[in-house]
Parts: sequence; C-alpha cells; structure tokens
Amino acid sequence: GNFAMASSMKAIQIKNTGGVEVLEHVIIERPKITGLTDVLVKNHFAGVNFIDTYHRSGLYKLSLPAIIGREGAGVVEAVGDGVKDIRPGDHVVYVSPSSYAEFTIANSKKVAKVPDGLDLKLAAASLLQGLTAWVMITQSYEVKKDDWILIHAAAGGVGLLLVQLVKNCGAHVIGTVSNDEKAKLAISAGAEHIINYSNQNVVDEVMRITDNKGVHAIYDGVGKDTFETSLACARRLGSLISFGNASGKVPPFEILRLSEKNLKLMRPTLNNYIETEEEFRKSTAELFTIIKEGKLDIKIWKTYKLNDAKQAHLDLEGRKTTGKLILKL
Ligand code: NDP
Repeated sequence: GNFAMASSMKAIQIKNTGGVEVLEHVIIERPKITGLTDVLVKNHFAGVNFIDTYHRSGLYKLSLPAIIGREGAGVVEAVGDGVKDIRPGDHVVYVSPSSYAEFTIANSKKVAKVPDGLDLKLAAASLLQGLTAWVMITQSYEVKKDDWILIHAAAGGVGLLLVQLVKNCGAHVIGTVSNDEKAKLAISAGAEHIINYSNQNVVDEVMRITDNKGVHAIYDGVGKDTFETSLACARRLGSLISFGNASGKVPPFEILRLSEKNLKLMRPTLNNYIETEEEFRKSTAELFTIIKEGKLDIKIWKTYKLNDAKQAHLDLEGRKTTGKLILKL
C-alpha cells in the first residue's frame, strides 16, 4: 500500500562477493535516523570509485548483505538530535558507506554543506577523489616546487586531479596512461611528460627525462603491476606512495630493499586522514576553496542510472574510463 511505497527505496545491494553479477537492484526499507549524529540524505548522485569494485569483489571485506558506494550528494531529509549545523533541506555531500541508494544515513562528521556555486553533481564528483588527491600531495608526500613527480593512471579519476594539483605546486608531472586518448587528456590537465605504459618502458623514459636521477615521489594507485617499476623510478631519498590496487594488491615486500636508495614507502588511505571531524572539515574546506578558485577541473566521464551500476563497474575495471563516474538516483 501507500505506506510501504513511502518507506521503501531502490538500492544496489550485494549478498555475495564476486563479479558484476552480484550487484543486485533491490527495493528495501529506507534507513531511519537512530543515532545522535545521523544525517538522512535523499541522494541525487552517488560517486563511483574503484573501492566500490574492491567491496564487490571481496578484496576489501564488508559485512553482507551490504549496499555499496562510499560517497554521495543530495538533500537532507532528517537529522539526529546531536546534529547542530546541518538542517533538513540543506544540500550536502558526504563520505559514508551505502551511497548506491535513494537514501543514505551518513555520519554528520563526514557530511559537508555544498558551497554556493557548486552543484550537487559536481560535489558528488569531487569529494572522495578530490580529498584523496589533496591529502596525498599535502600529507603522504608533500609536493614541493620543482619536484619531479610520477603519477600512474594519470587520466583516471584520482589521476587527473593529482596531475592538476601537483602541477599547481610548481612541480614537474610525468604521467603514465594506457592509450593515446588518455595521454592527451593528462597533458591537457598539466602533465609535462606522458608515458604510454602499454608500449613504452617506464623506467627508461623516467630516467631519460630526469637525467638519470629518477623522481622525488611516485603516486601509484595501480598497485601490483606497477610496484617494481615505481621503486625503480624513485631517486635516492625518494618516496613511493602506493595508494591503490587497480591491478591487484602489491605482494609482500622485503623492506631491506628500501636501503638501496633510502626510500620511503607508504600505503595510505583517505579514511585515516579524515578520521576526526576536524580533519574532515579542514581538508574539505581546502578542497572546496581550490575548486571555487577554478584551480581544479573535475571531469565527469559519464553519468549512469542506478540500474546501470553494473556497466559502470565494467567500464571502470575495463580501463575504459577517464575522470569521474557518477550514478544518478
Ligand atoms: P581510476 O579512474 O583511476 O581507474 C583505474 C585506472 O587504473 C584505469 O583507468 C587504468 O588506467 C588504471 N589501471 C592500470 N591497470 C589496471 C587494471 N589491471 N585494471 C583496471 N585499471 C587499471 O579509478 P579511481 O580514480 O577511482 O581510483 C584510482 C586508484 O586510487 C585505485 O587504485 C583506488 O583504489 C585508489 N584510491 C585509493 C584511495 C585511498 O584512500 N588509498 C582513495 C581513492 C582511490 P590506464 O588505462 O591508463 O592504465
């Protein structure tokens, strides 16, 4: 009846882990406010991130059944008693689980009001990947003027943002991509050199470009396939920031090898940089300022319907995409 209709919602749920076939389109009960810091958001958009494929495949464990998705943007429906600055009707963007759904309960500590001049779609497209790129260049390895920086998958979601932010620091960007179309895009985002790692030797190219010194830092979200290359591209005293597993997780590693060049190796996650409300608010405010100043162009590859979440995953894992994928609720 009417009551059941009003309290149900569409969502993408997984009951088992596996390929895209485990993504089920379901009608389930809407979540309700139960905690003091809960914010009930009517989602307009959910961002698609590579992590969603790890949750689906089981590389990162969720307790099942689960609605996947880690970020969204929409309008606040209701808030818990402890929430002070966010009100029903506010336009918000958040980093929180279960965003592939019409409604999500987000923790107010990870919910930000969308600033004037930024629409909900762009907000959903910018938050998780934007924060990731921002904390990587300010905290994992602090990029300095004139540094040489290697960025893998430079035309990807995080990649295109890293290229622009690193360039903005006055550093030199070398990007890797798998095809010429991606190369053009990464160059237009600010990469000084692009290496097509499908047909060029990355280490040789990096050494040629850097006068055989190597780079000061490497941002590597590809993982398994690029890890050894990344190590070889680092200069003495360099830093390898391994922040993802698009090609699979990096196998166990002998740390003594770092002494060959006194390298720093780090495996950071965004979550540990935005654990506290203060950290989340600071980084989010910095990111929004950069976007409002026009210093970060967020390129949306495609907006998919919720029903097409499977296709979004196939495209992302199939290396077909550039920039950001979005689901429209
Ligand atoms: P991308 O848009 O970058 O998509 C992944 C890209 O990786 C592909 O387009 C492809 O680019 C490249 N790639 C290389 N090898 C493979 C492979 N075997 N299979 C699939 N893709 C491959 O995704 P995101 O921007 O969402 O994420 C990028 C990386 O950043 C991921 O590893 C993700 O997990 C990580 N990440 C980590 C975070 C953290 O907190 N640590 C937070 C957010 C993202 P090409 O064709 O040019 O090779």
